Amino acid sequence: MSKFNFPFIKETNELSNLRKEVREFITTCINNNEFTPSPDAWVFSADPSFSKKLGSKGWLGMSFPKEYGGHQRTALERYVVTEELLSLGAPVAAHWIADRQSGSQILRYGNEKQKSSIIPRITAGECFFAIGMSEPDSGSDLASVKTKATKTKNGWKLEGRKIWSTGAHLAHYMIVLARTSPASEKNRHEGLSQFLVDLSLPNVKITGIPDMTGQRHFNETLFDNVELSDDSLLGEEGKGWKQVVGELALERSGPERFLSHFTLLDSFINEFRNSLIHSGTKIVGKLISEIQTLRRMSFSVASMLQSGESPETQAAFVKELGNKFEKMMIETLREFSNIVPLHEWPNQLQNLFEDATLRIPSNSLRGGTTEIMKGIIARQLGLR
Ligand SMILES: Cc1cc2nc3c(=O)[nH]c(=O)nc-3n(C[C@H](O)[C@H](O)[C@H](O)COP(=O)(O)OP(=O)(O)OC[C@H]3O[C@@H](n4cnc5c(N)ncnc54)[C@H](O)[C@@H]3O)c2cc1C
Repeated sequence: MSKFNFPFIKETNELSNLRKEVREFITTCINNNEFTPSPDAWVFSADPSFSKKLGSKGWLGMSFPKEYGGHQRTALERYVVTEELLSLGAPVAAHWIADRQSGSQILRYGNEKQKSSIIPRITAGECFFAIGMSEPDSGSDLASVKTKATKTKNGWKLEGRKIWSTGAHLAHYMIVLARTSPASEKNRHEGLSQFLVDLSLPNVKITGIPDMTGQRHFNETLFDNVELSDDSLLGEEGKGWKQVVGELALERSGPERFLSHFTLLDSFINEFRNSLIHSGTKIVGKLISEIQTLRRMSFSVASMLQSGESPETQAAFVKELGNKFEKMMIETLREFSNIVPLHEWPNQLQNLFEDATLRIPSNSLRGGTTEIMKGIIARQLGLR
């Protein structure tokens, strides 16, 4: 067990008070019809004006340094805020990636100009990011990316195609993983670099891809010989693999990996409160106990990030178990429809259920597949 340390962290009074403050703020927004809570809101529900509002409350870039407009609060405080936003279905998609991973990546590897020009805008809720990792022929095997950046006299020339770029149509920047020199025979992770690419540059073409619900949230992003300035390089040339692995720990460990459809569970419990007392206590009890375990694990990863660790394996656990939980939730609710048939559920709840049934299968693809998460865990166990 020592290989998988998940320190036990208790929520302090300060954190509980912050939670209360955020919950009150979001509830007021809902009561004022500023938004309708929605499932998977961190991917599908973007409202730049809401992002700006969160920025002005000090709830974006919470752990970033004050000199770049941040608030120097702890990763645990940020965790509490994100949990409240997700569980109440707030429209956070516009800023989600910037606040979750791109800002931290720039603070960790960026130069002074990159930090001072971008971080304050992320913190204000005015600058959004997309993730440029996957390509048409490179997903799980990320080291095989073919997007290429070639050194020119004044900077770099970027050529290639990224796919499934969530929110790229709304984003100002994408952090692109590209090959800057051939992989060596011994180490295919060598020769990769990360670039901070302004998506408004000429020869960047973003085309939406509808998912199977018909909604458009991800895209294909084409870089057709895009000219990048010298200081578009993020971090060190050739060290992109190490950098991207650290970024994935930020991407995989958060509460969005198990709270994406919490609005469904919440509405379900509220609707069937009385029938559940007679026949469904066990059903709901199992789901709630799973959520509590996942919360503890994810909160604990936040504390490890806070202390400067890179908990990639723990993040893989949270992602894999979180995905499994969301699938189990759908199956559990489907079983309940043997007690109260689906057509007798209120329309809004039926819609949430049908929507989740279509979307949840993709959760174990985005951010890395089940097999890849299990592979990371197996490696840590010394099994491969
Ligand atoms: C909703 C959504 C949003 C996304 N957003 C983004 C984004 O913003 N930016 C971005 O860059 N990408 C994004 N992705 C892409 C996502 O990261 C990839 O889909 C994922 O990494 C899998 O890659 P792939 O689709 O190419 O599948 P593949 O890698 O081709 O995998 C196909 C199947 O083979 C299995 N497999 C592959 N390799 C192995 C192995 N070594 N051992 C065992 N099994 C294996 C996989 O588990 C999977 O079941 C998104 C995907 C989705 C669904």
